[in-house]
Amino acid sequence: MKTIALVAHDNKKKDLVEWCDFNKGTLSQYCLYATGTTGKKIIEKTGLKVNLLKSGPFGGDMELGAMIANEKLNILIFFWDPLESQPHDVDVKAVLRLAVLYNIPTACNRATADMIISSPLFNTNT
Ligand code: PGA
Repeated sequence: MKTIALVAHDNKKKDLVEWCDFNKGTLSQYCLYATGTTGKKIIEKTGLKVNLLKSGPFGGDMELGAMIANEKLNILIFFWDPLESQPHDVDVKAVLRLAVLYNIPTACNRATADMIISSPLFNTNT
Protein backbone atom coordinates (compact mmCIF):
# COMPACT_ATOMS: atom_id res chain seq x y z
CA MET A 1 0.00 0.00 0.00
CA LYS A 2 1.32 3.44 -0.89
CA THR A 3 2.25 5.83 1.88
CA ILE A 4 1.31 9.47 1.46
CA ALA A 5 2.55 12.37 3.58
CA LEU A 6 0.42 15.48 4.07
CA VAL A 7 1.93 18.75 5.27
CA ALA A 8 0.83 22.37 5.10
CA HIS A 9 2.15 25.59 6.55
CA ASP A 10 -0.35 27.60 8.61
CA ASN A 11 -1.69 29.80 5.79
CA LYS A 12 -2.13 26.73 3.59
CA LYS A 13 -3.74 24.35 6.06
CA LYS A 14 -7.30 25.28 5.10
CA ASP A 15 -6.48 24.53 1.47
CA LEU A 16 -4.97 21.13 2.26
CA VAL A 17 -7.78 20.14 4.64
CA GLU A 18 -10.33 20.99 1.93
CA TRP A 19 -8.35 18.97 -0.60
CA CYS A 20 -8.23 15.98 1.76
CA ASP A 21 -11.95 16.27 2.43
CA PHE A 22 -12.70 16.35 -1.31
CA ASN A 23 -10.46 13.31 -1.91
CA LYS A 24 -11.38 11.49 1.29
CA GLY A 25 -12.66 8.38 -0.50
CA THR A 26 -9.38 7.86 -2.35
CA LEU A 27 -7.10 8.87 0.50
CA SER A 28 -8.81 6.45 2.89
CA GLN A 29 -7.35 3.57 0.88
CA TYR A 30 -3.76 4.63 1.59
CA CYS A 31 -1.44 4.84 4.55
CA LEU A 32 -1.41 8.49 5.57
CA TYR A 33 1.17 10.41 7.58
CA ALA A 34 1.08 14.10 8.48
CA THR A 35 2.97 16.59 10.57
CA GLY A 36 1.27 17.20 13.92
CA THR A 37 -0.89 20.27 13.47
CA THR A 38 -1.78 19.58 9.86
CA GLY A 39 -2.71 15.99 10.71
CA LYS A 40 -4.95 16.97 13.62
CA LYS A 41 -6.87 19.39 11.41
CA ILE A 42 -7.28 16.74 8.69
CA ILE A 43 -8.57 14.21 11.22
CA GLU A 44 -11.00 16.74 12.73
CA LYS A 45 -12.49 17.66 9.38
CA THR A 46 -12.41 14.35 7.51
CA GLY A 47 -12.24 11.55 10.07
CA LEU A 48 -9.45 9.98 7.99
CA LYS A 49 -6.99 7.75 9.82
CA VAL A 50 -3.72 9.70 9.83
CA ASN A 51 -0.46 8.77 11.55
CA LEU A 52 0.78 11.88 13.31
CA LEU A 53 4.42 12.94 13.27
CA LYS A 54 5.79 15.77 15.40
CA SER A 55 4.75 19.28 14.49
CA GLY A 56 6.88 20.55 11.59
CA PRO A 57 8.92 23.16 13.48
CA PHE A 58 9.60 20.62 16.24
CA GLY A 59 11.09 17.95 13.99
CA GLY A 60 8.12 16.66 12.00
CA ASP A 61 9.73 17.64 8.71
CA MET A 62 12.90 15.84 9.74
CA GLU A 63 10.86 12.73 10.52
CA LEU A 64 9.46 12.95 7.01
CA GLY A 65 12.98 13.34 5.67
CA ALA A 66 13.98 10.14 7.45
CA MET A 67 10.99 8.32 5.96
CA ILE A 68 12.07 9.43 2.49
CA ALA A 69 15.69 8.41 3.06
CA ASN A 70 14.52 5.01 4.35
CA GLU A 71 12.27 4.62 1.31
CA LYS A 72 9.12 4.52 3.40
CA LEU A 73 7.30 7.33 1.59
CA ASN A 74 5.75 7.18 -1.87
CA ILE A 75 4.02 10.54 -2.30
CA LEU A 76 4.53 13.94 -0.68
CA ILE A 77 1.80 16.57 -0.59
CA PHE A 78 3.43 19.63 0.96
CA PHE A 79 1.61 22.95 0.67
CA TRP A 80 4.39 25.27 1.82
CA ASP A 81 3.79 28.97 2.16
CA PRO A 82 5.47 31.06 -0.56
CA LEU A 83 4.66 34.34 1.21
CA GLU A 84 6.00 33.81 4.71
CA SER A 85 9.37 32.60 5.94
CA GLN A 86 9.29 29.78 8.49
CA PRO A 87 11.48 29.32 11.57
CA HIS A 88 12.27 25.85 10.22
CA ASP A 89 13.00 26.87 6.62
CA VAL A 90 16.13 24.72 6.61
CA ASP A 91 14.07 21.63 7.50
CA VAL A 92 11.56 22.41 4.76
CA LYS A 93 14.37 22.77 2.25
CA ALA A 94 15.92 19.49 3.41
CA VAL A 95 12.67 17.57 2.95
CA LEU A 96 12.11 19.01 -0.51
CA ARG A 97 15.72 18.20 -1.45
CA LEU A 98 15.35 14.58 -0.35
CA ALA A 99 12.03 14.31 -2.19
CA VAL A 100 13.79 15.28 -5.42
CA LEU A 101 16.79 13.06 -4.67
CA TYR A 102 14.59 10.00 -4.09
CA ASN A 103 12.28 10.77 -7.01
CA ILE A 104 9.18 11.18 -4.83
CA PRO A 105 6.16 12.68 -6.62
CA THR A 106 5.69 15.96 -4.76
CA ALA A 107 2.82 18.43 -4.86
CA CYS A 108 3.38 21.90 -3.45
CA ASN A 109 0.02 23.28 -4.51
CA ARG A 110 -3.49 22.10 -5.14
CA ALA A 111 -3.25 21.96 -8.93
CA THR A 112 -0.31 19.55 -8.70
CA ALA A 113 -1.97 17.53 -5.94
CA ASP A 114 -5.01 17.12 -8.23
CA MET A 115 -2.74 15.96 -11.07
CA ILE A 116 -1.01 13.41 -8.85
CA ILE A 117 -4.14 11.93 -7.30
CA SER A 118 -5.88 11.63 -10.66
CA SER A 119 -2.86 10.17 -12.46
CA PRO A 120 -3.05 6.58 -13.71
CA LEU A 121 0.34 6.15 -12.02
CA PHE A 122 -1.14 6.99 -8.61
CA ASN A 123 -2.30 3.47 -8.05
CA THR A 124 0.76 1.63 -9.29
CA ASN A 125 3.46 0.19 -7.08
CA THR A 126 6.28 2.45 -8.23
P1 PGA B 1 2.52 21.37 11.33
O1 PGA B 1 3.88 21.42 10.58
O2 PGA B 1 1.61 20.49 10.57
O3 PGA B 1 2.82 20.78 12.68
O4 PGA B 1 2.02 22.78 11.43
C1 PGA B 1 3.90 21.79 9.24
C2 PGA B 1 5.26 22.27 8.86
O5 PGA B 1 5.53 23.44 9.10
O6 PGA B 1 6.09 21.51 8.40
